[in-house]
Amino acid sequence: MELNNVKESAPLPAPGSGSAPATTGVLIVGAGPTGLVLAIDLARHGVPALLVEKAGRLFPGSRGKGLQPRTLELLDDLGLVETVLRAGRDYPRMLDWVGPDGTERGREWDMIERCEPTESEPHPNGLLIGQARFQDLLYAHLRSVGGDVVFDTEVTAVAQDTDGVTATLADGRTVRSRYLVAADGGRSGIRRELGIALRGESVDPKPMLVADVTVTSDAVLDDLNWHLWNGSPDGAVIICPLPGEPRLFQVIAQYADENAVPDTSGAGVRKLVAARTPIAEEQIAEVRWSSDFRPRAALADRYREGRVLLAGDAAHIHSPAGGQGLNTGVQDAYNLGWKLAQVLRHGAPDTLLDTYEAERRPIAAGVLGLSTRLHRTALVGENSRRRSETGQLGLGHRGGPLSSGRAGALEAGDRAPDGPVPGGRIFDLLRGPHFTLLAFGTPAPALASDLVRVHELGPYEAYGRGLFLIRPDGHVGWAGEDGTGLDDYLAALGAAPRP
Ligand SMILES: Cc1cc2nc3c(=O)[nH]c(=O)nc-3n(C[C@H](O)[C@H](O)[C@H](O)COP(=O)(O)OP(=O)(O)OC[C@H]3O[C@@H](n4cnc5c(N)ncnc54)[C@H](O)[C@@H]3O)c2cc1C
Repeated sequence: MELNNVKESAPLPAPGSGSAPATTGVLIVGAGPTGLVLAIDLARHGVPALLVEKAGRLFPGSRGKGLQPRTLELLDDLGLVETVLRAGRDYPRMLDWVGPDGTERGREWDMIERCEPTESEPHPNGLLIGQARFQDLLYAHLRSVGGDVVFDTEVTAVAQDTDGVTATLADGRTVRSRYLVAADGGRSGIRRELGIALRGESVDPKPMLVADVTVTSDAVLDDLNWHLWNGSPDGAVIICPLPGEPRLFQVIAQYADENAVPDTSGAGVRKLVAARTPIAEEQIAEVRWSSDFRPRAALADRYREGRVLLAGDAAHIHSPAGGQGLNTGVQDAYNLGWKLAQVLRHGAPDTLLDTYEAERRPIAAGVLGLSTRLHRTALVGENSRRRSETGQLGLGHRGGPLSSGRAGALEAGDRAPDGPVPGGRIFDLLRGPHFTLLAFGTPAPALASDLVRVHELGPYEAYGRGLFLIRPDGHVGWAGEDGTGLDDYLAALGAAPRP
């Protein structure tokens, strides 16, 4: 099937109709946060894509409940940050409950070091929002930009040739695409089918339980604090209020015994909470969702096999400590989206997609090390206070295959800082799928590209004097004191004609 000029997706035929395969530019497998962000990004780049999800609905649990500052900047670029900020809340202060029956209020502290916004970092603090709620917002946004999720649709096999990928669905239908992105989670069947090893280690052999519960108003819990009971010999329990609904909390319980088998039934969750905290079983009105896991840290050997790319938990799995997993996954999607657009819509060479692994895999390796260290040294308790290392604002691609030059205060690969400009902010200029050339205190060269928006601005210390080409994912791609080499750089990305 000819896929070279796919301009739009041909829809999935009805089950059992036996008609021709659906066709699309990119088949995204898995509507978790990674797949949803990629689908939104591809939609704004005008790349035909199909997002399939084996479940009948989005994941209902709160598991990844922390959005890091860099993710808020990504959401700003997608035009979604205000909505998400309204739906979430600041991290509550930790409260240690002490005393023989756990009813005395002990120390209070901030789990996350709070910082004031600055001109260059408008979102310095993370946001608390349950993953299910975040995914609902992503899904609504995806629909508002013309995309959707095809639910109850499981990919069971993947075959590829020089032109494209054929994915077989559980009911026998097939989808033909130029590329396939496996955003199918930590147990990725596609990763396994491709024979890509996920290498790593157990972070902690002891199991953990996670559950979403509603708690009656007469229970000791308030909605203002993140509550910790660390006195039980069976293990600690931390209970965090979730924004969006009064009296909804996420329970995380550790087990001191590595042979323990968590009982994730509603009765089991009630019993555990009642045994380790002063909350009575009958004060847990509802157990909405529960699960158990043993924290592991592992990284895929490679992120790409031909026309199939791995993203999110399919490529790296983490301990929940430090709130890195979901955030790293959505940043994968953000890195990959514009590259797929350059290849599929603007004639960039397929090798541009190799830079996805080159840029993102080292970042995942570093983030895995961080979350493992935080888990082992400071999962709960006062020394669990997180500093800027978890915010992901300092992550970049210096020395990477797409990073060229330096000027002023920045080197190519760095995150593009925000700042004031006449009538608005730098992030206003960057928002959208385009490249942006920022010329600070120096004239901008004429460019033969309609993918680049050019702005001449006065000197600004976060950048310094010079020319800075900002990629669609908010990183400096190229920097220089004059425009020498910029046309060549853009041409290599398919963003300008060859000079
Ligand atoms: C207790 C806990 C707390 C956490 N806290 C945080 C936190 O604070 N911050 C953070 O960043 N992360 C956190 N995480 C991690 C976070 O939940 C994951 O990193 C995140 O869900 C990964 O997103 P994803 O889209 O890559 O994969 P997933 O969310 O796993 O989504 C994969 C999707 O693919 C679908 N799928 C699978 N196979 C197929 C198939 N063959 N065909 C079609 N669909 C398929 C699945 O049904 C699923 O919907 C936490 C995790 C846990 C367990």
